[in-house]
Amino acid sequence: MPEQAVLWEAAQDKKVQCFLCAHRCLIPEGKSGRCAVRKNNDGVLYSLNYDKVISANPDPIEKKPLFHFQPASSSFSIATMGCNFRCEFCQNWQISHAIVDAGVIEGQNISPEQIVDAAIRYDCKSIAYTYTEPTIFMELAADCGKLARQKGLKNVFVSNGYQTKEAIDFAAEWLDAINIDLKAFSEDYYRRLCKAKLQPVLETIEYIAKNTNIWLETTTLLLPDENDSDEELKRLTEFLVTKAGPDYPWHISRFYPQYKYADSVPTPTASLQRAYEIGKRAGLRYVYLGNVPGSKQENTYCYNCGQLLIERVGYNVASNKIENSLCPDCGTKIAGVDLG
Ligand code: SF4
Repeated sequence: MPEQAVLWEAAQDKKVQCFLCAHRCLIPEGKSGRCAVRKNNDGVLYSLNYDKVISANPDPIEKKPLFHFQPASSSFSIATMGCNFRCEFCQNWQISHAIVDAGVIEGQNISPEQIVDAAIRYDCKSIAYTYTEPTIFMELAADCGKLARQKGLKNVFVSNGYQTKEAIDFAAEWLDAINIDLKAFSEDYYRRLCKAKLQPVLETIEYIAKNTNIWLETTTLLLPDENDSDEELKRLTEFLVTKAGPDYPWHISRFYPQYKYADSVPTPTASLQRAYEIGKRAGLRYVYLGNVPGSKQENTYCYNCGQLLIERVGYNVASNKIENSLCPDCGTKIAGVDLG
């Protein structure tokens, strides 16, 4: 059953104005928004994916990736179909937009109670709204999120950061952490490859860092020759340091060819290394490389004395020396949530 949507208002001629994400679609009667999962029925906006969960299973929190949030814990990860972006290199394009654009929304009716119960059964410490864009299943996330909080679980989003401020305020009541994809630092890239804009994502990052208690990490997928120039990475990392702060981790993710970029090449490790150095030079205290098996740069080091604090092997935590959020060697505070 479609669920009445949140964050919209009635407009003229039975149109509705959705303000869940920065597209702010003005939707005529009988039509859907750009995400294709919110529909105007007779002047009322409905969520079409509330009762259609397409994926539900426990994952390491490191897979999100969130490295400074309850390390070594499991996060019960759910998704519905749909997205408000149309990224040409999407890793989950089948469930994000291919089928939805054809007018089909698949999934199972799993209630918030069942989701929270499953999370507890699997010994998870949080629920992750992930794989597709969680903003576009905000109604389900909110019902789960509030219930999860009552049961002592935390809630995390893995998101493209295209929420409006209204949506962030709405979620801030129950949302504990977010990893935002900062895909590039150019409007051209966002317009050409994602059918979206950069500026709203920058505003979300700054707003969350300065105005909420939501723990923030960001991720950039490096696409060869698209977003990996020194100059662009310098501007991106300087933005993170000055507008969010040096304590929020930045993940650099390696691209592997897929979807419309199937003929491309994987990101060279030299580019990832170069991005890492640029991030550190900009002043970021925690920079991580992802999708690079065996890399030492997936570990956490104390930014003050250089001590190895959390050793990771892929998504597993091999050791964690942090005590009371402090480096045991020099006593420096390490930013994050329930670090050890
Ligand atoms: S959530 Fe969907 S309907 Fe609402 S503004 Fe974004 S794309 Fe449009």
